[in-house]
Amino acid sequence: MKPTRLSKISIKWQIFAYLALFVAGTLLLLWLLQVVFLQSFYRTIKIYDLKATAGKIAANLDRVDLQSYLFSAAHPSEADITVTDLSGNVLSSSQNPGGGRGMSASLNYGSLVSQAQKSGGSLLKWLSDNGGGSDPAAPGQPGGGVSPFRGGQSNSVAYVKIVSRKSGGKAAVILTANISPVDATVLTIRTQLICVTFLMLVFALLLALLISRRISKPIIRLNNSARELARGNYGVSFDGKGYRETSELGGTLSYAAEELGKTESLRRELIANISHDLRTPLTMITGYAEVMRDLPGENTPENVQVVIDEANRLSTLVNDVLDLSKLEASTEELRIVRFNLTESIRAILGRAKKLTEPDGVTIRFLHGGDAWVDGDELRVSQVVYNLVGNAITYTGADKLVLVRQQINAGRVRIEVMDTGAGIPPEKIPFIWDRYYKVEKSHRRAAVGTGLGLSIVKTILEKHRARYGVQSTAGQGSVFWFEFEIKEPPAGGENAPV
Ligand code: ADP
Repeated sequence: MKPTRLSKISIKWQIFAYLALFVAGTLLLLWLLQVVFLQSFYRTIKIYDLKATAGKIAANLDRVDLQSYLFSAAHPSEADITVTDLSGNVLSSSQNPGGGRGMSASLNYGSLVSQAQKSGGSLLKWLSDNGGGSDPAAPGQPGGGVSPFRGGQSNSVAYVKIVSRKSGGKAAVILTANISPVDATVLTIRTQLICVTFLMLVFALLLALLISRRISKPIIRLNNSARELARGNYGVSFDGKGYRETSELGGTLSYAAEELGKTESLRRELIANISHDLRTPLTMITGYAEVMRDLPGENTPENVQVVIDEANRLSTLVNDVLDLSKLEASTEELRIVRFNLTESIRAILGRAKKLTEPDGVTIRFLHGGDAWVDGDELRVSQVVYNLVGNAITYTGADKLVLVRQQINAGRVRIEVMDTGAGIPPEKIPFIWDRYYKVEKSHRRAAVGTGLGLSIVKTILEKHRARYGVQSTAGQGSVFWFEFEIKEPPAGGENAPV
């Protein structure tokens, strides 16, 4: 796969880029707040504070201790507070009566009050150095509308609020405050910000290196293991320790490797088995045929029978392999019909009896009424054939094979029993595997393909039927499977479902 442009950049640089972006964003925000808008923020806050103080004083105008109240209110907002009547005569002030007037020394209260009255009851006014007050920026706007950006010439502001007293009449609350310029502060902050920017960038780079090393470590480990896997080492383990995601990925990859390994060993085993199984009968056929051709007395019916037997064995093997691969690859769908399982078994056993009677094998079928099931009749017959075939092969000296049908709770159970040596318990889980033979030296094992039970298993699993085996050493084995019983079709004939 061609890497995309982004995927060519290493984790380290990507993390650094994101961190640098974050640092740049934070610093830009700081710069905007601390440098560009600091002055206006400061003024806005100060003016808001003045207005809030004016409101509080308006509510307390009738206090007896107004003077000391004004004094205490003036302190936190660093303002001078004066209360006048509507002609500008001082009624009370936050300043010492004897101490002269501070910021408001040269203020013409009368003019401020009348301007405030004209502009609707409140006035915000920047004061020029001579104390006369500059022109309001937006006359007629109650409470100000005066731009705080005054180019640094005017640093004092007066706020006038006309209020009605509870005791009757009106008064004016006049607050004057100094808003000191922030130019020097801005310069300091700007220098600091430049230093901080460099420091933060270096810090971001170091952090990116550190994080990327930590993050990429498990990824690099996983990548190395994946390379090993690609080279065919299926035993490789994927160590994704470090993060949940990488350890999960490690687990998944280890599982995948294990499964790949299994498939690979199965493939090798399959080829080895098939080639071995094919070679033996082929050698026999060629050998016997050559003997019969070269030696006149050897062309006997027995020898011809050996050739026929071996050829049959070859075709059984090829058919089994084909059956299994077709079943497993699901190329052939089951043709499910409703059929009479009891009748089907009866027919199979009838044919088997004919073939095995000369060998002295007794096959018995114990059953009650007929049981109808849904399934692929041909495939289910194959299951019965294989199980009965195995029972005949492995049964004991009495050469007895018992097939029993039991009906219970809506299910029909077919049991194929023999009286042979049984299967050792530790081997039972493996007998369903392809090419598994419990005892390689067994008379039939030398002939059997080892595929019979895996065909049985595949067919029964495709039918979602239950199946299993019970075996006691020395007493024989019982192979069983179960199907759900269905109603017989109206005509009593097999019918598609
Ligand atoms: P095979 O062609 O060798 O019979 P199967 O898949 O049918 O292959 O059986 C696998 C192995 O299971 C056999 O080789 C045999 O060892 C064991 N086995 C199967 N059926 C019986 C049985 N009825 N009694 C004892 N062993 C059995």
